[in-house]
Amino acid sequence: MITLVKGFHDVLPDESPKWAFMVNTAKAVLERFGYREIIPPIMEKTELFVRGIGQVTDIVEKEMYTFEDRGGETLSLRPEATASILRAVAEHSLLRREPVLKVYCIGPMFRRERPSKGRFRQFFQVDAEIIGDDCPYTDAEAIAAAHAIMTEMGATGLMMEINSVGCVHCRSGYRKRLQEFFSGWLGELCPDCTRRLEANPMRILDCKVERCGEIAARAPLITDSLDSSCREHFHEVREALDLLGIPYRIEPRMVRGLDYYTRTAFEIVHDELGRSKAVGGGGRYDSLLGELGGPDVSGIGFAIGLERLAMGLSDDDPRFRRSMDVYVAILGEQARSMGLTVVNDLRRHGISVETRYSKMSLKAQMKLADKLGASLVMMIGDDELAGGEVTVRDMSTREQAVVKIDEVVRYVQGERA
Ligand SMILES: [Zn+2]
Ligand SMILES: [Zn+2]
Repeated sequence: MITLVKGFHDVLPDESPKWAFMVNTAKAVLERFGYREIIPPIMEKTELFVRGIGQVTDIVEKEMYTFEDRGGETLSLRPEATASILRAVAEHSLLRREPVLKVYCIGPMFRRERPSKGRFRQFFQVDAEIIGDDCPYTDAEAIAAAHAIMTEMGATGLMMEINSVGCVHCRSGYRKRLQEFFSGWLGELCPDCTRRLEANPMRILDCKVERCGEIAARAPLITDSLDSSCREHFHEVREALDLLGIPYRIEPRMVRGLDYYTRTAFEIVHDELGRSKAVGGGGRYDSLLGELGGPDVSGIGFAIGLERLAMGLSDDDPRFRRSMDVYVAILGEQARSMGLTVVNDLRRHGISVETRYSKMSLKAQMKLADKLGASLVMMIGDDELAGGEVTVRDMSTREQAVVKIDEVVRYVQGERA
C-alpha cells in the first residue's frame, strides 16, 4: 500500500462538513468586512519568497518545498499566502483601480516543519489582507475580523497578543542593541543564531533551540526602541481595540517569524488548545509591496490555520451530521426501472436522493437510509408498481402515506416546506 506523505493529511468525507463550515464561516465574515476573494496559485518562483519573507528566516532556509522544474526554473510551494497575494496585486496593478484593496484567500500552504499534533506540512489557511491603508484603526479592523472568524467558528477563550515591531527606522537601532546583547552570549548560541547575529539578529528571538530561547528572554525589548510615530501608531491600535471590546494583551517579545512585519504584529491565542498556543496571527508590512515591484504602500494581513480549529470542532455536532431528503428503497427487480425514474425526477427538482440498485432486503435499506440521515423513505415494490403508487415513510414520525407516482415531487416539496 502506498501511504500519505509524512506530515500531510486527508480530509475524509465524514470530516468535510466541518471543513465546509469553517471555510463558509470565514468567507461570510470576511465579505461582511468588505474583503473579496483572490485565488493565487499554490506555486511561485522561489525568488518571490526569498525576497518577500527574507533569506535569513526559518521558512526560507529550512522549511520550503523547493525544486527545479523540468524547464530548469526553481519553484517553491507557497509557505504562506501574503507574498503570493502581493505579487498578484503588483503584477496586475490592482491598486490603480482600488487604492485600498481588501482581499482574502483560503487554501493549502506548505512547510516542511517537524510534524506534531495539529501541525502539518500541508496546512490550510485563511489569509486576509488590507493593502493601501496605514491608519492604525485599520490594524484594529484586521484584528477584529480575525477575532470574528474565530468566534463564529465557535472558539472561546480567545486572546489577541499584540506588539509593535517598529518601522525600518526603529528597527535599525534595535538591531544594533540586539547585536550588542547577543555578542555577550556568542559561545552559547546555536550555530544558526551565531550566523543570524550578523545577518538578522531579530530572528534569534524566535529560534526554537531551548538555550537560545532562554538567552532571548533577557534580550532588550523592541517596544523600548520605538520612535514617537511608531509609539503613537501602537497607541491608536490599542485605543481602537478598546473601543471594539476585543480582548488583547501586549506581548513585547512577540516578533513573528517573518521579516516583513513592521509596526503592528499580533497572534491569536486560543485557550482550549493549552500550551500549543497560536492558531493564527498577522501584522503590518510597510515595504513588502514596494519590494515586490508594486507601489510603495503599506498593508496589514493575518492568517488563521484551520487544522487546529478543526480539532476543536466536535464530529457529533448536529450541524455536521449527514443528511438527505429521500432514500428510495427499490424492492425487487421489477421495481428497478420505476425506482430509477423516480430518483431521477426528484433529483431534477433539487431534492437530494440516494438509492441502491443492487438487491438488498428492506431491513438493510432502512438501516442504510438511517445512516444517510434521510428524512423520508420511499418504498417501491410489486404492489406499489401495480397501483402506480409509492409508500412514503417519515423517518422521524414513523408515519406512512401512499402517494401517486406522478405526485411524489410535489409531496416531497410539501414535506420539506
Ligand atoms: Zn518607527
Ligand atoms: Zn538558536
